[in-house]
Amino acid sequence: MRNNTYHFKLGDFECIAISDGTLAYRPPVFPPPAAFLFGNTPEEQLEPLLENHNLQLEKWVAWESPYICLIINTGQHQVLLDTGADDLDPNTGQLLHNLKAEGIAPHDIDTVILTHGHPDHIGGITDSEGKLAFPSVRYVMWKDEWGFWTSEQAELRLDEHGKEVLLGFARKNLPPIRDHLDLLEHETEITPGIHAVAAPGHTPGHMAVAVRSNGEQLLCISDTVLHPIHMEKPEWCALVDFDPEQVVATRRRLLSRAVSEEALVLAFHFPFPGLGRIVHKGEGWQWQPTERLVIID
Ligand SMILES: [Zn+2]
Repeated sequence: MRNNTYHFKLGDFECIAISDGTLAYRPPVFPPPAAFLFGNTPEEQLEPLLENHNLQLEKWVAWESPYICLIINTGQHQVLLDTGADDLDPNTGQLLHNLKAEGIAPHDIDTVILTHGHPDHIGGITDSEGKLAFPSVRYVMWKDEWGFWTSEQAELRLDEHGKEVLLGFARKNLPPIRDHLDLLEHETEITPGIHAVAAPGHTPGHMAVAVRSNGEQLLCISDTVLHPIHMEKPEWCALVDFDPEQVVATRRRLLSRAVSEEALVLAFHFPFPGLGRIVHKGEGWQWQPTERLVIID
């Protein structure tokens, strides 16, 4: 199995999980992984959970996170979910290359859904010259998210860590799509079978996406959780979670929904291909990665 792309069918829709690359979050650019991902958690609570995941607090020096975009071919529409990080890191920015290897050109895509305005999700909107990488698509984003990044709010409300990088990516990538943009204020159908789901907290207008076809459902939770441990301990938040209280409420709502609706789940930062199911465990949930799906090719 190739580890850059992963084909699966959801009802009548053909989907491809596509890697944009992997970023190793490590000092000095980022805090150590445990502090970065579970910043509000006392060490004595953290250690046993990490051990269950074969991690040791002292030895966990880098969080290797894939960036996983998604192509949904509905027959009517070819939709891309998030655009990757472009040149954020030498190991990211592989989306266009991996699409091309699948025989998909930028003009084959008609809709790009942006779950939120962080660099790893909007970085691939423009190329190195600032031109749109997907020139003739309809972009979709939550209105509060657009407002946050294109007004002075982000400048005023973000803490200093990484702020210049975040603002730089937003300033480069968001203004060029202004005339191609649908801003959502309510949960709505984006294209037939693809629905926007409000998921605020990680960022002010963070959005999840529910895909339904022929009795099957895929819930794309984007950065609602960053690591499988967040499912077991939904109250443990990452330093990059903008509003922790809202993050916890959104996690509980979406994870409950995934269980009750028996949805397949896609998580942007999980080990590739980021697909799995969620089950109840104790007072939280547990991630069960999908080992095998229907491989089309
Ligand atoms: Zn992300």
